[in-house]
Amino acid sequence: MAGELRRAVQTVTGPIPVESLGRTLMHEHLLVGAPGWEFDDASAGLSFRDMVERCVDRIEELKSAGYRSLVDPCPRDMGRDVELMREVASRTGFNIICATGFYHSEIGAVSHWKFRMRLDPDAPKRLAETLVRELTEGVGTSGVRPGIVKTATGRAVTPYDLMMLRAAACASLETNTPITTHTEGIHGDTQLETLCAVGVDPRAVIIGHTCGSNDRVYQRSLLQRGAYVGFDRFGYAAANTDENRVSALVSMVRSGYGERIVVSHDCVLCYRGVDHLIPTERSFMRFERQIVPMLRERGLSPGEIDRLTIDNPRAYFAGA
Ligand SMILES: [Zn+2]
Repeated sequence: MAGELRRAVQTVTGPIPVESLGRTLMHEHLLVGAPGWEFDDASAGLSFRDMVERCVDRIEELKSAGYRSLVDPCPRDMGRDVELMREVASRTGFNIICATGFYHSEIGAVSHWKFRMRLDPDAPKRLAETLVRELTEGVGTSGVRPGIVKTATGRAVTPYDLMMLRAAACASLETNTPITTHTEGIHGDTQLETLCAVGVDPRAVIIGHTCGSNDRVYQRSLLQRGAYVGFDRFGYAAANTDENRVSALVSMVRSGYGERIVVSHDCVLCYRGVDHLIPTERSFMRFERQIVPMLRERGLSPGEIDRLTIDNPRAYFAGA
């Protein structure tokens, strides 16, 4: 199955032809909740209705700028809510692609799989099976099928993270589903090596948050191996400046890697438990409003810029 061209992408409201994706942001979040949020009784939190309304407003704004699709790569253990995604997608007619997979060992819900690793030599196989089940049968009883596999590493790569990476690779190969990753701007090379050692084609992988690094050698090495890289945190000042991101992006395009870069903001619209503590100035609109003019000023053509949001997401999902 792996390696075949894909004609369709699974969205939370059903499969669509790859050609229908249109302008796409490749890494955004409707809702995030760090494991344990459900035990925080001191936080009133947002109702499902409030979250839907907020997400619908922001997606309508994005639609008005010509966007048709976004990937919400929330892992299973970070508050993923496919019912919320489906409701928002249905209300707006927008394509939302959700993920299966688990977060890294510094922040994810590690206890169960760590414990199981100690007791069960087949734990990695079972882990891959849970991902395959979601990809083929849907999330729980919702009928929503993920269209992408998410995997992640933190500041260090642990044995737990390697198990997660290999399970993601197995599930991707078995179901011919592409992979997107979280990095802290480092260890994308280890991720790629680990995934490819299982047999994944680098063209089926986005190394996420590559714009968090200012190491051009590291960034280029991922592109040279054939992976996509995510310049997917525009507006996230804690991770890097947009000035640095734009300089690196322009340099990669000038070096001939413009077909391997996807863009986004890693914007989170709603947070479980800490929503009232998170500043709201980050926006889905930043790329279009602030970054596109910067790219034009640096001499990128409209075609080179459109490739980042239209052609590259389509080619990645098609497996072209
Ligand atoms: Zn993210």
